[in-house]
Amino acid sequence: MPHVPELYYCPQCGHALEDKEAFGRARRFCPSCDLIIFRDHKVAAGVLVEQGDKVLLVRRRRDPRQGAWSFPAGFVECDEEPADAAVRECYEETGLEVRVTGLHAVIGPEPAGAASIVIVYRARIVGGELAPGDDVDRVGFFDLDELPPLAFRATRIALAKWRDA
Ligand SMILES: [Zn+2]
Repeated sequence: MPHVPELYYCPQCGHALEDKEAFGRARRFCPSCDLIIFRDHKVAAGVLVEQGDKVLLVRRRRDPRQGAWSFPAGFVECDEEPADAAVRECYEETGLEVRVTGLHAVIGPEPAGAASIVIVYRARIVGGELAPGDDVDRVGFFDLDELPPLAFRATRIALAKWRDA
């Protein structure tokens, strides 16, 4: 499972949390303000960008999976549209400005890594210049038959679906 931080104190009032059976399973519960804590997935969004028959990939500069490749992706901020997050991450990691053209896949839960649900869009380039940035040290377009080592299960699933389409 992806790492999920344990919760010890109520995020609303600061009281120590307890366990309680609620809505079908044990959940953290605040006895002071009656708050049940519903733990949520950590959501990431990314883009598959085509150029000819090739797909845009980035090499991760940090763990998890440092040195392995993924499509541009990152966490969706809590006040951000998933598609906007995917476009933002693509720009931060590759320098390319893209426009989302459709939803490709929603994948999860991921067994390992930082995100547990990954929303993958298809996108096309509308501007910018290709250069690695943020937590990426290399970027490039790859033929599906000559893919580098891939970072995550979601990466493999998304690319396999792209190949089949
Ligand atoms: Zn509380």
